Amino acid sequence: CKQVFKISTGSANLDKLLGGGVESMSITQVFGEAGSGKTQIAHTLCVTTQIPTEDYSGGKVMFIDTERSFRPNRIRQIARRFHLSEDSVLQNILYIRAYNSEHQYQILKNVAVKFHEDTGVFKLLIVDSIIALFRNDFMGRGVLLNRQQKLAETMSLLKKISEEYNVAVFITNQVTTSMNNKFPLLTIGDDVKPVGGNILAHSSTTRVALRKLTGNVRIAKIHDSPELAEQEEAFTITNGGVQD
Ligand code: ATP
Ligand code: MG
Repeated sequence: CKQVFKISTGSANLDKLLGGGVESMSITQVFGEAGSGKTQIAHTLCVTTQIPTEDYSGGKVMFIDTERSFRPNRIRQIARRFHLSEDSVLQNILYIRAYNSEHQYQILKNVAVKFHEDTGVFKLLIVDSIIALFRNDFMGRGVLLNRQQKLAETMSLLKKISEEYNVAVFITNQVTTSMNNKFPLLTIGDDVKPVGGNILAHSSTTRVALRKLTGNVRIAKIHDSPELAEQEEAFTITNGGVQD
């Protein structure tokens, strides 16, 4: 029997916003401008996923990196915050770099095989970012349909993986402003919108918009969820990762 679990983000505020944390058998998407904290949340989750709780055993992490965003030194800092062995925390993160959108898809196919072989070992799959390589590979309007088809395949594979192997899927997405309106967009504010159109929107269970406030403070807001209230919460980015 597959028991749904929730992984803490490291911030009680953010966990509350998410209804307890990042959920298994589900896709959580965060989007926001550069520096809004997407990668920092991903790094913190790499560590918190390994911490068992009363009803969660803890487990390994698969990190698919499309933007060279992974920083082992940040993982070490965050591990120290939670009084964990830096080396063993790093060893429990399987890191894969994707070079183009097709490669990213093939990696996800291999991930499915790996999760099948190592049943119950991996609890979190991160793709940071889900869209970057698609934006590189499919430039301009003429290939938009093709891009959206490939993106849809990728998202349905992610959904299948999350459900079949009971893992949490955490993806990051980018935003564009209305000034640069060449992709299908969803309005979230007056000027900032997530990219990827309907496919990326509707294939994610939970979407969270991030924005910078002042200094290391960030605001997270639930975006258009069928289950969660459209609330906002603040969190901070520190040496120890994401916290209140
Ligand atoms: P992008 O779209 O460029 O990938 P992002 O949303 O992934 O952006 P992050 O890399 O998560 O952005 O966040 C970068 C922010 O985190 C910067 O503002 C940086 O100052 C802050 N930050 C990084 N490390 C630390 C730290 N050790 N302590 C405090 N803040 C930090
Ligand atoms: Mg990033």
